Amino acid sequence: MTDAAAPSETEFRAEVRDWMAEHLTGDFGHLRFRGGPGDEHAFVEDRMAWERELASGGWTAVGWPTQHGGRGLPLHLEVAYHEEYARAGGPGRAGLIGEGLLGPTLIHFASPEIQQRFLPGIVAGTEFWCQGYSEPNAGSDLANVKTRARLEGDEWVIDGQKVWTSLAQWSDWCFVVARTEEGSERHHGLSYLLVPMEQPGIEVRGIRQITGTAEFNEVFFDGARTSADLVVGAPGDGWKVAMGTLAFERGVLTLGQQMAFQRELDHITEAARKNGRWEDAVMRDRLMKLVTRVRIMRWNATRSLRTDEQAQLPREAMINKLYWADLHRDMGEAAMDVAGSAAMLTRYSGAQEGDAGDEEMSPDHKLFFFSRSDTIYGGSNEIQRNLIGERALGLPREPR
Ligand SMILES: Cc1cc2nc3c(=O)[nH]c(=O)nc-3n(C[C@H](O)[C@H](O)[C@H](O)COP(=O)(O)OP(=O)(O)OC[C@H]3O[C@@H](n4cnc5c(N)ncnc54)[C@H](O)[C@@H]3O)c2cc1C
Repeated sequence: MTDAAAPSETEFRAEVRDWMAEHLTGDFGHLRFRGGPGDEHAFVEDRMAWERELASGGWTAVGWPTQHGGRGLPLHLEVAYHEEYARAGGPGRAGLIGEGLLGPTLIHFASPEIQQRFLPGIVAGTEFWCQGYSEPNAGSDLANVKTRARLEGDEWVIDGQKVWTSLAQWSDWCFVVARTEEGSERHHGLSYLLVPMEQPGIEVRGIRQITGTAEFNEVFFDGARTSADLVVGAPGDGWKVAMGTLAFERGVLTLGQQMAFQRELDHITEAARKNGRWEDAVMRDRLMKLVTRVRIMRWNATRSLRTDEQAQLPREAMINKLYWADLHRDMGEAAMDVAGSAAMLTRYSGAQEGDAGDEEMSPDHKLFFFSRSDTIYGGSNEIQRNLIGERALGLPREPR
C-alpha cells in the first residue's frame, strides 16, 4: 500500500545522501555518529533540534502514509533510507519511540481525533514519547501489569509504577498500559492511555546503567492525570493495542540497522589491524564470521521485504530480532577481545563536549555493554523463541 510515486532506489539513495551531506554539517556536524545505543545521553537537545531539521526536509516518518504526514514510501525504500542515514553518520533518532512505535500504533488503532492531535507533533519533531509498559513484576509477563487508572469526571487518574522506561526524562508524553477495570486479570481490562509527563503526579528517577549513564528510568504515577478521551482503542481493549505496538518494535523498525552494524564491525576490524590482533588467524576467522553474519542479516531483511505491504512482514521475519540481538552481542565481545588488556580500562581519552565527562566510555565499551541489553528489550531471546515456536511454526502453546 504505497501512496507516493516511488523513485528508483538508486535515485532515492542519492537524494538521501545529498540531503544528509548538505544538512548534517555546521550546527549539526558534531552529531555525526552520536546518540546511538549506549550513547543516548549525548547532545539530547541538539538531537531534538535535528529532528526538526529532518522534518523540514520531509525525512521523518518516511514510511507513514502521506495523509498522516509521511512520505508513503514502500518498505524497501524505507530500509534504503535508514541505511543511507546510518552510512552518512546520522545521529540516534531522539524521536524514535514516537515515530517507530507509537505513530504506527495510532495509525492502526486510534480515532481520527487522536491521530490529528498527536501524529503531527511526531512528524514535526516537536513532541517526544516514551513507552510505559514494563513494571517490576511485569516484563516478559506483561499481562501482570498492576498500574491502575480510574475515571474521575473527565479524567483518568493513574497510580502505579513503570520501570526501564527509556528516555522518559526527555519525553513530553508516555503511552501507558494500565488496568482500568477493577478486579480484572491478565490481559483483560487493560487500556492504552496517552499521558503527559510534565505534571505533579509523575516522578521520573533515572537508573544508572553499566555504561555509566541513565538511558532508562523508573516512572512513578501518584494520582497522575490524563484526559478521559486519550485512550487508544476502546477502554479495556489495551492488550490488543499494546501487542500491535510490540509487533512494530520487533519488525520494520530495525530492518535498516545492518548499516550501523557494518560500521561498528569496520571499526573493530580496523582496531585489530592497528594493534596486530589481525595477525592471529583465529581472530581473523572470528571477525570474518561476523562479517558474514552482518551480510546474512541484510539478506534476511531484504527477504522480509518481498511483500510491499507496509508494516506487514512475512512469518520468516520473526527470526530477525533474535538474529541481530545475538550478532550484536557477539560483536561487542569481539570488540573487547580485539582490545585485549586495554579493554579493562573503560575511561576514554576521546570524550567530547556533551559527553558524560569522566564516565565517558570508548565506543567499543559502549557497544560491549549496551549490546548485552539487545537480547532483553523488545522481548527477550527466550520470549522470541516462544513466539517463533507458537506463531510461526504452529507448535503447542507454552503451558500457562
Ligand atoms: C535497554 C532497555 C530498554 C528498555 N526500554 C523499555 C521501555 O522504554 N519501556 C518499557 O516498558 N520497557 C523497557 N524495557 C524493558 C524490557 O521490555 C524488559 O526488560 C523485558 O521485557 C524483559 O522483562 P524483565 O526485565 O522483567 O525480565 P523477566 O521477564 O523477569 O525475565 C527474566 C528472564 O527470564 C526469562 N523468561 C521470562 N519469561 C519466560 C518464559 N515464559 N519462557 C522462557 N524464559 C522466560 C527471560 O527471557 C529472562 O531471561 C527495556 C529494557 C532494556 C534492557
